Amino acid sequence: MYDLLLKGGTVVDPSIKLHGAHDVAVQGGVIARVAPVIPAVEAARTIDLQGKIVTPGLIDLHAHVFDGFTKSGVHPDLGGVYAGVTTIVDAGSAGSATFAGFPQHIIPNCHTEIIPFLHICQTGLATMPDIIAEGSINLGDTLDVLGRHKGLIAGIKARMVSPALEIMGMEMPRLARRAARESGTRLMVHIGDTEKRYDPKVIHSLLPLLEPGDIVTHLFTANPGGVLDGNGKLVPEAVEARDRGVWLDTAHGRKNFSFDVGRRVIDQGLHPHCISTDLTVPGRLETVHSMTEIMTRFLGLGYTLDQVVTMSTENPARAVGVERRLGSLATGRQADISVLEMREGDWKVHDVVGATLRVKQAFVPFLTVKKGQVFTPDWGPRPWGWEPDRVLPAGGSGGCC
Ligand SMILES: [Zn+2]
Repeated sequence: MYDLLLKGGTVVDPSIKLHGAHDVAVQGGVIARVAPVIPAVEAARTIDLQGKIVTPGLIDLHAHVFDGFTKSGVHPDLGGVYAGVTTIVDAGSAGSATFAGFPQHIIPNCHTEIIPFLHICQTGLATMPDIIAEGSINLGDTLDVLGRHKGLIAGIKARMVSPALEIMGMEMPRLARRAARESGTRLMVHIGDTEKRYDPKVIHSLLPLLEPGDIVTHLFTANPGGVLDGNGKLVPEAVEARDRGVWLDTAHGRKNFSFDVGRRVIDQGLHPHCISTDLTVPGRLETVHSMTEIMTRFLGLGYTLDQVVTMSTENPARAVGVERRLGSLATGRQADISVLEMREGDWKVHDVVGATLRVKQAFVPFLTVKKGQVFTPDWGPRPWGWEPDRVLPAGGSGGCC
């Protein structure tokens, strides 16, 4: 007898080359069977998912969930199981001085799985700006924390922003890379200077530092230091990085995502492997909204449903080295499953520089299964729920009468 049967949905899981009507059975917290028809009598609990999309549990590769330790950290479940997301990669909210908060206070108190990166700045994002002096980095302490939390910390985060680069120059990412290499983890680098102060050419010396398995985040940033040069041309180092196995993630956030940059990058043949939110408390309310809305934006940019699912499940799992456990509905994998609705309508989504994109399809979370446990998504980040902004009829005020 299966514990749970998800019946009648459309399974979309490119990792097992599946896109069609299938049932999914869960037992003991793992995927027990995926087949065209599994009888309801074989399960203790059956959920009818006619008309819904069933994918591997969504993995948000870049978010901030150090709730209570940093000002803008979101409660993990708000961006996680109550938003259709089963796993959140915290992109360096904590540094060596604050990291213990994750295993002691955050991880034991939420249902969403958290895979943290450690900021190379010892105070992480507890104060902003992060790096304010050379002493903001303590390599010894950083390596010590990495050693004590082996298997939990997935990598090191470095932010290519002012004033860090003005104070330390390229020594900052080099120290971060050293910490990643010495701990046998990986480096995630934020590109795009939100202060718009540093030399944009720094991208030419940064990208060659990255090795296979490292991650570039904010691929579509319009801030100085992104992957487009002054003429809108893709820097050759970006293509070289992709070719040698560096992961490319978009991360939206409040300051580093532009449809125009995205289209130029895509038109020149470079595609992100992963899409993510860079979720924070204000970002959730103002710009990012949700992982499902980020997926909606990429449908709007022309990616197929299958491609969007791969960029939100299999690829982020591989990028943080958990692909044997997560990111797929293959039999035996952990039972992390997202059930989504694809609604039809007329909406507009926005980037952070004020551009809008009209979309006719929008993802809305319907159900989340984490290790076999079922969660129902929250109401959503907007007064009307999860859908993007509705396009009003011409001349309409939106009000009644
Ligand atoms: Zn971030």
